[in-house]
Amino acid sequence: MPPTTFDETYEPRAWTCGECRRILGVVMRDTSRVRRLWVFSFDRFGDDLPATSMLRNPPRGLFRVHGDYACDGVECSRCGAINEWAGNKESFDKLMERYPIKEKG
Ligand SMILES: [Zn+2]
Repeated sequence: MPPTTFDETYEPRAWTCGECRRILGVVMRDTSRVRRLWVFSFDRFGDDLPATSMLRNPPRGLFRVHGDYACDGVECSRCGAINEWAGNKESFDKLMERYPIKEKG
């Protein structure tokens, strides 16, 4: 697969464990405006992410999953919680805003 072309207008966002809030990965958006998940090789403490330029050109070993669209779960290595990932929800919601389902009347 060719490397992702990133949407530069979208700031990378920390993706945290729903239970213990540890940072498991980062969400970035590609030029098709689809949010995708990168999972760090090692969970991170605190709120600080590496610099955006590093996230978009990661050195070897930074991530163990690159650009996942959706998955049943990423297991937190600290608390064991399974965190579901569905990157298309945002674009789906946008679509629904644009084309609302009309109520029957
Ligand atoms: Zn956790």
